[in-house]
Amino acid sequence: MEGTFGSLKEKLNENNEVFFTGIGGQGIVTGSNLFLEGLSDTKWHLTGVYSPGAERRGKPISCFIGLYNDPKKTKSYEMLTKKDFVIIFDPASVGKEQLLNGLREDGIVLFNTPKSPEELVKANGKLEYFNVATVDASGIFSEVFTEAFGRAPTFEEIRPNVPVIAAFFNITGLASLETFIKVVTNKWGGRIGDINKQAAIAAYNKALVMKSSKRGMEPMTTKTSTTPVDELTEIALCFPQEGIGGLTGLWALIQPKIKEDLCNNCGTCFIYCPDNCIIWTKGKEGVPKIDLRYCKGCGICAEECKQDAIEMVEVKR
Ligand code: SF4
Ligand code: SF4
Repeated sequence: MEGTFGSLKEKLNENNEVFFTGIGGQGIVTGSNLFLEGLSDTKWHLTGVYSPGAERRGKPISCFIGLYNDPKKTKSYEMLTKKDFVIIFDPASVGKEQLLNGLREDGIVLFNTPKSPEELVKANGKLEYFNVATVDASGIFSEVFTEAFGRAPTFEEIRPNVPVIAAFFNITGLASLETFIKVVTNKWGGRIGDINKQAAIAAYNKALVMKSSKRGMEPMTTKTSTTPVDELTEIALCFPQEGIGGLTGLWALIQPKIKEDLCNNCGTCFIYCPDNCIIWTKGKEGVPKIDLRYCKGCGICAEECKQDAIEMVEVKR
């Protein structure tokens, strides 16, 4: 693998804001608590804010953490308005540019990926404006787990949070490995504690960094929905758009399918869909269409349909 083992310690400011992002099940909230505990003996005044909503497997989760020299900043409404560091826990999110919105030029982005920073920058030239770091946290966790249990972990069992944070502490010098190991082993005993400790040590030593080489970039912008307006219902007040977590349809394990022979085009499903992803126009012939790009598979439409015309079917990927 290409890459430079090194440090980005000089990139720390007086006040630093960190954005964690991943999906439910990857231990993002637990990771942000461990991150804060790892810094509790340092000079920093700390604050953390978690994204609201139910935490469930597959749902995007974000945490903002502030590390300030000035204690007043932790109480300021201005806090967490910019990003100095972005930590992307989900290997599937490597190509999602919108997660970097608000990252200051010359800030640091750390990806959980087996790829080197050079490979990522080659694939996306915009990354050259940031300091890019990578660590194969999921791979490291899986390796240590396999050694401990004599079998590979399932997708659900892979927890990249501890190795990602260990790598981040190394490249920024924010906390020592010894301190972080203490935090981890206080949290978990037994084999789980050992696995996380081994994963932290390996990741701490394997993080790769590539310093930014450019200045003066255009601000990154979030992509908006490409649904043509004339395809959408005339009475919906708002339409779904892709947010920082990507298309919500990607979270779905099941999604609705309308049985055309049973549907009477009453529009009840349209009224109840919390995500406005059912496209229906009063009086129009046919059956509603469902924009599966935004359907997260809650099943409310199927529950509310009086005709039993909606079947929830497994999503095959
Ligand atoms: S609620 Fe059922 S019957 Fe009514 S439009 Fe939706 S699918 Fe058709
Ligand atoms: S499953 Fe939920 S999100 Fe999807 S169309 Fe039905 S109500 Fe909307």
